[in-house]
Amino acid sequence: MRYAELAGLYTELEKTTLKTLKTRLVSDFLKRTPDELLNVVPYLVLGKVFPDWDERELGVGEKLLMKAVSTATGISEREIENSVKDTGDLGESVALALKRKKQRSFFSQPLTIKRVYETFVKVAEVSGSGSQEKKLKYLANIFMDAEPTEGKYLARTVLGTMRTGVAEGLMRDAIASAFGVRAELVERAYMLTSDFGYVARTAKERGDEGLEMVEIQVGKPIRPMLAQVAASVKEALGEMGGKAAFEIKYDGARVQVHKDSDRVTIYSRRLENVTRSIPDTVEAVKEAIKADSTIVEGELVAVGEDGRPRPFQYVLRRFRRKYNIDEMIKKIPLELNLFDVLYAEGKGTIDLQFAERRKILESTVHENGSVKLAKQLVTDEPNEAEKFYHEALELGHEGLMAKRLDAVYEPGNRGKKWLKIKPTMEDLDLVIIGAEWGEGRRAHVLGSFLIAAYDPEQGRFLPVGKVGSGFTDEDLLEFTKTLKPLIVHEEGKYVEIEPKIVIEVTYQEIQRSPKYQSGFALRFPRYVAMREDKSPEEADTLERIAQLYDFQEKFKAKR
Ligand code: ATP
Repeated sequence: MRYAELAGLYTELEKTTLKTLKTRLVSDFLKRTPDELLNVVPYLVLGKVFPDWDERELGVGEKLLMKAVSTATGISEREIENSVKDTGDLGESVALALKRKKQRSFFSQPLTIKRVYETFVKVAEVSGSGSQEKKLKYLANIFMDAEPTEGKYLARTVLGTMRTGVAEGLMRDAIASAFGVRAELVERAYMLTSDFGYVARTAKERGDEGLEMVEIQVGKPIRPMLAQVAASVKEALGEMGGKAAFEIKYDGARVQVHKDSDRVTIYSRRLENVTRSIPDTVEAVKEAIKADSTIVEGELVAVGEDGRPRPFQYVLRRFRRKYNIDEMIKKIPLELNLFDVLYAEGKGTIDLQFAERRKILESTVHENGSVKLAKQLVTDEPNEAEKFYHEALELGHEGLMAKRLDAVYEPGNRGKKWLKIKPTMEDLDLVIIGAEWGEGRRAHVLGSFLIAAYDPEQGRFLPVGKVGSGFTDEDLLEFTKTLKPLIVHEEGKYVEIEPKIVIEVTYQEIQRSPKYQSGFALRFPRYVAMREDKSPEEADTLERIAQLYDFQEKFKAKR
């Protein structure tokens, strides 16, 4: 099949914004695609060469591309670069360059999709010294034989800037219509394998029945199951029928780990292959999981020297790494907390109930220093769950996940079978107006603080809660030192403090409260940081809290 036909499709797709028309164009094209190309054409139509989870990438930037076009056309790179200033698009400029081509080869052969794809594979797979030159040569070769329109789309494919408005949903519908199969079966097969090439082939060769039989495959990532929000532990328990598995919601990056004998592949939440950037985790997984073939899921967390989790951005810094990986392993050690298993003993486990999957997970994983099981509490006791929630926050985690014990794993679905509970409201900057001395050994340290919002109309500070968690021991000593000179009145273990110090506080919810003069109380407030940069008059106001309260109630009503 000629590449010109594909270029024709891109052109047609660009001419319309109508989804139905685009779907028909793609569907017709898929119908005409010969079997041996059906693996790759869906990706090329999406403007990609490989699926995201494929480790291979072209690794060609604008510079190298221009060089290749320059080699193919005899037009200087500078000229091509200048033309981009007019066209605003390198693809268009490549087309113009090909139109003006100075050298015509006698041996010019029309481009086929097969040749283009094979060239891309060579470009992606070449490595070692001289690889840039080789890439240049391979690319120049196809540009040499490309017609202007073909060149335009080749360039866009290489750079990943296709913009024809074909996304995954459209591809699903196009495959369904091309081969007369049910769209939901195409969707299911895609959720399980993330592989449109494979799905299109199955649809064509084996129809609905074949799609229904598509199974999870080790080495092809599954779309992750997602969660909805619950306002509280109690609400989550209610939603789950009175009993649930609560797990720590780790604040890191979700990963899917595929193990096939000695080969471990790790995919990110977006199903990109991140294996190479985290060899330490790969090794730890090999040690922890002896099963021959399995797929497990978990949250990868960066841990600090004190053993507490660090913000998730740290993990992302590890993912993006291509060089100095050893150094990063030392700088940002990772811990994998596994929470699900999707494949074990030669078959998918997603249709099993969660309680059963957890058992399989527990028997699959031998915990070590870097690979652990997500901490879990199965309970029907709201108080126990509440306590667990506090512990999780106290340890620096994001909150809890609540999971239905009898739920199957639903790839790609954000349903109510998983609920996340975390302090969702934006943090508030509040003023300390009172405190309490600790007890026993801590009698000389202030341990709990009355916090207030500012009321600019009356120029006063009205309490909205007491914060007693989120502090380290050092924080408390520091606070005591700072606040002591500000004590205006003392009664038993209670002290009144001059409103001077602003702290940032997080919390789970704002409640109406008859107890406080402000009329509001923060539920589960926790200390986040000192706000030395703020004066008490710059603290959050009562009005702001009322606003947030309204917002929260509306949000709840919508859910
Ligand atoms: P968020 O920003 O809250 O993580 P999200 O859209 O990334 O939201 P959600 O489905 O809303 O994802 O929340 C679930 C996410 O929480 C998972 O994708 C995973 O990364 C993370 N997570 C942490 N701990 C767990 C756990 N024990 N079980 C499931 N997911 C967990």
